[in-house]
Formats: sequence, structure tokens, C-alpha cells
Amino acid sequence: MAPAAMRTAARSIAGAKPVSYWLDDPDRPQALPALTGDEHTGLLVVGGGYSGLWTALLAKERDPDRDVVLIEAREVGWAASGRNGGFCAASLTHGLANGVERWPGEIAKLEELGHRNLDAIEAAVARYGIDCAFERTGEIDVATEPHQLAELREWHEEIQKLGITGVDLLDRDAVRAEVDSPTFLGGLWDRRGVAMLHPARLAWGLKRACRELGVRMYEHTPGLDLVRAGSGMAVRTPYGRVFARRVALGTNVFPSLVRRVRPYTVPVYDYALMTEPLTPEQLASVGWGNRQGLGDSANQFHYFRLSSDNRILWGGYDAIYPYGGRISAELDQRPETFLKLAEQFLTCFPQLSGVRFSHAWGGAIDTCSRFTAFFGTAHRGRVAYAAGYTGLGVGSTRFGADVMLDLLAGRETERTRLEMVRSRPMPFPPEPFAWAGIEMTKRSLARADANGGHRDLWLRTMDRLGLGFDS
Ligand SMILES: Cc1cc2nc3c(=O)[nH]c(=O)nc-3n(C[C@H](O)[C@H](O)[C@H](O)COP(=O)(O)OP(=O)(O)OC[C@H]3O[C@@H](n4cnc5c(N)ncnc54)[C@H](O)[C@@H]3O)c2cc1C
Repeated sequence: MAPAAMRTAARSIAGAKPVSYWLDDPDRPQALPALTGDEHTGLLVVGGGYSGLWTALLAKERDPDRDVVLIEAREVGWAASGRNGGFCAASLTHGLANGVERWPGEIAKLEELGHRNLDAIEAAVARYGIDCAFERTGEIDVATEPHQLAELREWHEEIQKLGITGVDLLDRDAVRAEVDSPTFLGGLWDRRGVAMLHPARLAWGLKRACRELGVRMYEHTPGLDLVRAGSGMAVRTPYGRVFARRVALGTNVFPSLVRRVRPYTVPVYDYALMTEPLTPEQLASVGWGNRQGLGDSANQFHYFRLSSDNRILWGGYDAIYPYGGRISAELDQRPETFLKLAEQFLTCFPQLSGVRFSHAWGGAIDTCSRFTAFFGTAHRGRVAYAAGYTGLGVGSTRFGADVMLDLLAGRETERTRLEMVRSRPMPFPPEPFAWAGIEMTKRSLARADANGGHRDLWLRTMDRLGLGFDS
């Protein structure tokens, strides 16, 4: 990039607030008091992100008389659920391609369940009056390199063979008529499979809905350990214990209260910028009348979308794995990534040179080696967990919540019969092997992007083993 353009990029992020735009909201609800003393309940949900919130809500919807308690270590929605891109996808498999690759025999069922799940989210948002700017706009995957265009064409043919409808191939002019960037060569628009929403407001709305249905909720209440207690379980917190017949763990990237689950995920930091609201002229220079979410098709990809007040969220590209799987607030800020993202934004939308970013933030993603959630039980079926959503948990956590409730009920359902639900990813090895393997994979992926998509021996071997690294 030319020095003048680099200076423009640096200026554009100079005043950005180092917090998630979504959480920096005057309507952010007050935290609820922490648990003091002992509680007894039928179902304890640990974790106040989407995963835990949907579990509590669906438990109440299944049985309004069930007693449900939710504990959250900090505040509802503060983690991934309050800082993501807000792409709420039907896909339960981190994209159709990953699902077709791993579960070809059940992909049709997975797609059907995923679309039903997204429809159910849309219905719940309406039913509980959740003000989260839900817009079922779909998503366009854009090609910015010739080899990506060829891949999108092949992929479109494959999608048609699978009988999936509502996915349109756009040529260069058609994609630029939707969203105008000189870098776009074509695109694939999935019209119904993705909605855009305000992520933190979804979490806060679910919190309110849960409480209206009678869920008792405690914030600033970390579960410290999980032990058997009589015929149930007990979770110790700093100022009290919760005794519960059943426990559901929606703790995402944070160390699981079931130790043996820990090696299956690693934290991967993902970063995003949010612009100031665009002026009508700036927005007109891009188009974007249909307000879809967009993603580019490289291994190191960007995702971008409009907010309800016409800001552009621009995120992705770098996916940072901290040695040892460290999770720390200081990793939420990464100036070199923010600068890179700002430069890449200006390459994508040169007509928006001069636009400033108001917010810059990052957050940890619970990456697993197959990119889709895995599920299980512990303590003879009294505890269920779901984790490993990687970068696509906004929608699929609701499906995962249903799976956890099925498992805790000991019920065989169309969900628990799925190979995807019954199987597990490969765990990550201990350090230094995890770090070395992830770094090697990242370097190979970057080389593939720069080299016409050509996958080297390392990536081909990983593909054969069904292993990968993504965000
Ligand atoms: C920057 C970024 C962008 C993303 N973009 C997208 C996107 O556009 N689309 C998409 O589908 N996905 C996206 N994701 C992923 C998505 O946000 C997550 O998959 C989803 O939010 C996971 O929800 P969760 O409830 O499992 O986790 P979280 O939101 O992380 O919630 C887990 C909660 O559990 C609590 N907790 C953990 N341990 C304990 C304990 N012992 N006791 C009590 N509480 C505990 C934590 O405090 C936390 O609040 C993104 C993620 C990031 C970080």
C-alpha cells in the first residue's frame, strides 16, 4: 500500500474506542446481583452467552414448571455473544462446504434442521419482542481473486446438485450492483440462510425473556467447580453453592467445568472495526440497498455488514492463537491487526476514504478442529455440554441448546441421532505441539491465498485427516 494510503488508514482508526460497538450501548442492562447463599434447582445453566440463554429459555418453553437457574461469571453477553459480527446463519456446520465434506450422508437433514433453527430464532425474536434489528437479508460470499470465482462457480453447481435453492450466482456486474467494490469479481448470494442482527441486544433480549418466564439469574457468579451431590450435582461459586438435578454447560471458550472437554477447543482471537454512520452520499457510493452480510472467499477472510444506523462493521482476516491457549482482556486489542483491517477496508471501498472508525475490538472464538460444535454428557448424564462453535455460533447455539436439553432428558431425538452430534472432533495436542501445528497451518493457508488457492502438502494432509484451523 502507498504511504499516503497507509497514513489515511492510520488516521481512520486513531480515535476508535477500544470496546465492542455492540456493548457500548446506553440500553445495556444493569447486572443482576451475584448469588449469595445456597440455591436448589432442577436445572442449572452455567454461562450467560447465547448458548446458556437459549438453554434456559428452551427449558422453560418445554416445561414452564421446570425450575431453572442460570449463573454467569461476569455479565450476560459480555463475551463472544456481545462482540460478534451478528451474522446469524442457518448453517449448523460452519458453512455448507464444511458440512458436505464431513457429513455428506446427513447434510440434507442438517440443512433442514438449520433452517428450522433460524426460523425459530426469527419467531422467538418476534414473540418476545427482542429489539435486535433482526434482518433476514442473506449473505453474499464474494470472490476477489480469479481462482475464487472459479471455486464459487463450481460450488454453485454442487449446491444445485444437492437440490438446495435460494442461492444465486452473481457475476461481476451483478455483485457490484448490490455492493460496489472494485475488488469484487463475482459472488454467491444465499438469500434466506443468514440474518443480520445486533448481537448484544439479542443476548440482552434473551436475558429478559428468560427472566419473564421465571428463570432465576445471577451475574458476577462464576462456577468454580462441579461435584456430585446426592443424586444430583453441586456447583460452587464464590459466595454460595447451587445444587441441581441437572447441569448444562454453555461456557464456550472458557475452561470447562468438565476437565476432559478442555483439549477439544482452543481460543482464537478475531478482530473487528466499526465505522461512524455513513452519510447518505457515502452509502449511495456503495449501494447496499439489500443490506446483505458479505464475506470474501479467501482462507483469511473478511466479513462485513451494515448496522441499523448504516455503519459498516469490518472484521476478520487475522486469527490469532495465543501460545498456551491464554484468554486475557489484553488480547482484545491488537493495534497491528486494526491497522491492517483499516488498510484492507480502504482497498475494498476506496470511495470511502476519509471515513473514520468509531470502535475497534476483538474477542475469543472457541475453535475446534472440525469447526462445528460437539456435544456430550458427564457424571452419568446429569451434566451436558456443547462447545466448539468456532466462528459461527450466533444461530447454531440455539440448536446446541436443544441438543443439551435432549441429552439431559435422556431422549433420543432427530438431533441426538445425528452423526454430527454423536461424533467428536480430534482434540488439540498439548503445547508446544498445538502452537506449532496451528502456526504451520496458518502459514500454509496464507500461502494458499497468495498462490491461486493451491493447497500445499501440509494442508492436503490435514484435509485427509479431517483437521483444520478456522475462525
Ligand atoms: C469477534 C467475533 C466475531 C464473531 N462473529 C460471528 C458471526 O458473525 N456469526 C456467528 O455465527 N458467530 C460469530 N462469532 C462466534 C459467536 O459469537 C459465538 O459462537 C457465540 O457467541 C457463542 O456463544 P456462547 O454462549 O457459547 O459463548 P459466550 O458468548 O462466550 O458465552 C459464554 C459465557 O459463559 C460464561 N462462563 C464461562 N465459564 C463460566 C463459569 N465457570 N461460570 C459462570 N459463567 C461462565 C462466560 O463469562 C460467558 O459469558 C464471533 C465471535 C467473535 C469473538
